[in-house]
Amino acid sequence: MSGPMETIVIVGAGQAGFQAAASLREAGFSGRLTLVGEEAALPYQRPPLSKAYLAGKTDARGLLLRQESFFAEHRIAHRPGIRVTAIDRAGRSVRLSDGEDLSYDHLILATGTRNRALPVPGADLDGVRQLRSLDDADALRAAIEGIHRIVVIGAGFIGLEFAAVCAARGLSVTVIEAAERVMARAVSPETSEAFRAFHEEAGVTFLFGAGVTAIEGEGGRAVAVRTADGQSLPADLVLVGIGVVPNQELAAEAGLAVRDGIEIDAFLATSDPAISAIGDCVRFPSRFASGMPGGDRVRIESVQNAVDQGRCLAARLTGRPAAYDAVPWFWSDQGPRKLQIAGLAAPSDASVLRRAGAGFSVFRFRDGALSAVESVDRPADHMAARRLLAAGKRLTPEQAGDPGFDLKALATG
Ligand code: FAD
Repeated sequence: MSGPMETIVIVGAGQAGFQAAASLREAGFSGRLTLVGEEAALPYQRPPLSKAYLAGKTDARGLLLRQESFFAEHRIAHRPGIRVTAIDRAGRSVRLSDGEDLSYDHLILATGTRNRALPVPGADLDGVRQLRSLDDADALRAAIEGIHRIVVIGAGFIGLEFAAVCAARGLSVTVIEAAERVMARAVSPETSEAFRAFHEEAGVTFLFGAGVTAIEGEGGRAVAVRTADGQSLPADLVLVGIGVVPNQELAAEAGLAVRDGIEIDAFLATSDPAISAIGDCVRFPSRFASGMPGGDRVRIESVQNAVDQGRCLAARLTGRPAAYDAVPWFWSDQGPRKLQIAGLAAPSDASVLRRAGAGFSVFRFRDGALSAVESVDRPADHMAARRLLAAGKRLTPEQAGDPGFDLKALATG
């Protein structure tokens, strides 16, 4: 790092940006710290938006990462409702949407992702919705009152979590998925099959291998979803959950390297040493991705990654540099079922099923080595898997599939 570091500016007040700010103070950074976020709310957690918050089981206050007083107490200047519109790398400053310029010694980009738009006619009709922000969730909570038929496009995590909440309210829910199974990019066929069955038992209908060609409307409102094979599925509300794209334009326009994410090194630095980037918006080298079809650089969308990268970066900026090496992990609550994933699996990784008592786990192997573990209502397997992956301990497929084999002893030994 060249020169004294007196001012750090963070772009994006989500999970990663907030964590970096909090961890910088915890690690003793005493300079000026500004957290610029385009959303109006205090930094909040997104996961409950498609779970407890959507179901009305928690309020907006329960989502906050910290109460308002925390920011003043820790001298974190939170600037809500403000967008950073440009970076002047030579002058080390950022331009804000209110016209102000803010100078920095170090800049942290934590801009997250946005939902992929559905590229068909009618996608802009009223009643076609997405779920990313608190505003989206508030609008959805209001919109699902008093309606009957929901069509979800995309059987990924958010689509399925939304479907589960709606089905539990007695709504009629159809999920349309282009692939042949649920969560196809993220989990094994075994886990997909189990979750398809869980959702069907809860009353959800699936259409697999189905393309959407249009949203049909009447008077500006969506009334049906048309599929490639000519079906027209009536809908009072359509939720589009077809993945996200990284918010990388700010970095790209400033000449930083981007490729499906802002490119960073193992220390979370961009191609400009005065700018780092963390969270959903970055692509980074990971030993857990080694042998994956896309190479050993990944972009990960998870709370774990956002939090651990925020902490890792704060440590480097306060004089304790370490390469980022955290085990990826993730969870998804779908109805009463809890899915937890440790590690990163490629679609072609082998699967070994382990069943003991309630729930099950699928152990994934790439080139004979453990790559990931998907656990359904098996938190102990998940915790053991995180330890095994962190330590790079050897587990054979035979051991994984043997319910009598003591995983915990291997993980902690
Ligand atoms: P974000 O939290 O998206 O924050 C980025 C922020 O930057 C946003 O507020 C954005 O408005 C702001 N921003 C962007 N550009 C600018 C700019 N130019 N100027 C100012 N501000 C800007 N993960 C899990 O591990 N488990 C779950 O169960 C889970 N459930 C989820 C459910 C939902 C509905 C969603 C949407 C996500 C879920 N996730 C879950 C993913 C998790 O929330 C994200 O991985 C995490 O929020 C990423 O943090 P981030 O800070 O990188 O991005």
